[in-house]
This record gives sequence, C-alpha cells and structure tokens, in this order.
Amino acid sequence: MKIRRAIPFVAAAIAIGTAAFFAAAQTPQAPAELHTLHVQGNVYVIVGAGGNVTAQVGDDGILLVDSGLAANADKLLAEIRKLSKAPIRYLINTHIHPDHVGGNEKIFAAGATITGGNVTGDIGDAGVGATIIAHEAVLTRMSAAKGEQASPARAWPSDTYFTKEKKMFVNGEALQIMHVGAAHTDGDSMVFFRRSDVISMGDLYVTTSYPIIDLARGGNIQGILEALNRAIDISVPAEKQEGGTYIIPGHGRVADQADLVEYRDMVTIMRDRIQDGVKKGLTLEQVKAAQPTLDYDGVYNKPGSFWTADQFIDAVYKSLSAKK
Ligand SMILES: [Zn+2]
Ligand SMILES: [Zn+2]
Repeated sequence: MKIRRAIPFVAAAIAIGTAAFFAAAQTPQAPAELHTLHVQGNVYVIVGAGGNVTAQVGDDGILLVDSGLAANADKLLAEIRKLSKAPIRYLINTHIHPDHVGGNEKIFAAGATITGGNVTGDIGDAGVGATIIAHEAVLTRMSAAKGEQASPARAWPSDTYFTKEKKMFVNGEALQIMHVGAAHTDGDSMVFFRRSDVISMGDLYVTTSYPIIDLARGGNIQGILEALNRAIDISVPAEKQEGGTYIIPGHGRVADQADLVEYRDMVTIMRDRIQDGVKKGLTLEQVKAAQPTLDYDGVYNKPGSFWTADQFIDAVYKSLSAKK
C-alpha cells in the first residue's frame, strides 16, 4: 500500500497562523476559509476554523477532535457536512483555549439534531447531543469561567477522565486519548487513532512557532517535552523515515515522525540552555540577553508571530524556576 507523504502539497494549503489563544474574545482578522484534507485511513483534518480540527469518519458516525473558534462554527459544520452526512457522535477537546472549544455548543446541538433521525424540532433533550470528551481540568476551568469566556453548560465536556489515558473503540478502530500532565495547559489530551495511524496533538505540538506554554492555565515546558517524546515513541516511520504515522498539530501543517524528532531536539536544546541559566542563578533578563534561541529564530520566530521567542524564553524560564 502506498503512503504518500502529505506534507509538500499540504504545506501551502494549511500554513495558518497560530491563533491568539489567550484572548477570551477574539475576532478573526479576515473571514475564515476552511479546507479539508484527507490525512490517512479514516482521518481528515479541517483547517481554518481556529486550531486544526481532526475528523474521523466511519460507520458509527463522526468523531471530532476540537471545534475551532465560535465565530467559525457554522462554517465548520458546513465543511463537516461536505465530508459526511453521518451523525456527529463525539467531540474530544484537546484543551480549553477558545480556538479549540469555541464551536462546542453548535457541534453539540448538530449532533443532537442528526442523531434523532426523525427529529421534528424538539431537540432540547440533552441526552441526544454529541458527547463531549476532555480531561477533567478542561471541565473544571470551563465551568468556573466567568465573563466573556463563560459558556453554557451544554458546551462543557460531559465525559471527562483524570487518569493518564482513556480508551475508546469507534469506527472500527482503537483510540487512545492520552494526558501527559502540565504541558501546553494542565488539561491537554492527544488522540492516537491506532488503525488509521494518526496522532492528533492539539497545541502540544505546533509547526508554526516555538512551543506555546500557557503558564496561567498550568502549562510547563517539561510536559511539552514529555508529550513530544510520547508521540515519537508511538510513531512508526515508513521507508526512508518518511510518512508512516502522521501527526496533526494544533496549528500548522501535517507532519510525520521525522518532523517531530527535529522539533523535540530543538525544544530539548532550548530547555537545556535556559535551564543552565536558571541553575547558574541568572535572572530572566540575563538569560534573554544571552539569546538562547538565536540559531532557531529564523524558523520558529517568524515576524508577526503571535508567540514570539521572547515569550517562549519567558515561559520556559518561569516553568523551570517555579517552586515545586
Ligand atoms: Zn490553539
Ligand atoms: Zn492552545
């Protein structure tokens, strides 16, 4: 069976920017244009709605990983409907940021409408909506959110887990939903589609910038490395180290194990350099003055990027110097 390396043609189509995720109420600069790409097996990626959205399609219906920005939810649903008219059964949220959970309410409601089959307008039954799955830290933060970040209860995860892993069997394949502890936030999940051989990583991996660490929501550089290592561990490359297991990042283009290894090595070097400064008792300003990221900035610190090298150094330094 031939497995084509998806990256060259994918790159141009889905080179999307990292959405400004800390902002509670963000407005996309331009009207979003969504695209769907087949990744492998039962798995597709929909780009342009905010964070990348993963869709698994099969006899049981549709399973989604993340729901994009609220403002793009209708477009996302239209894009999903182009892919399949099957009911939306499950929505897994990789973490709490609005570019990944914004469409929850509409996806939930759409799941309800279609699941009913002969529904005639009475779709108020909470029992028939799409099941929203996430690590329990996501529910804790969502249900506590106030003001602009507050969302109705039906947008919240209804099926949470608190262990290192949750397993499911959907559309003829085993799914492993994995949590690695404090990383991008404190409630990150990555989803391994075992038969399709695709890992959807949420913002534990982005191809567009240095790793994004949301300290205010429990993020830590060490967990990012743990997640990257876990994904590398379960990935198997095809011949010449190309293809094989495909990786869907939270933002950016579809990648494979070789891309992950390169990124993990870069992150490890950055962590070690900054850790060295912390151990020597250098202040954050002194560490920044030493320009620890300089040799990678051409690739990962693009002008106009939401998450800059400066912010990355700041977050890594604070991760490593935080009192345990
Ligand atoms: Zn994101
Ligand atoms: Zn995020």
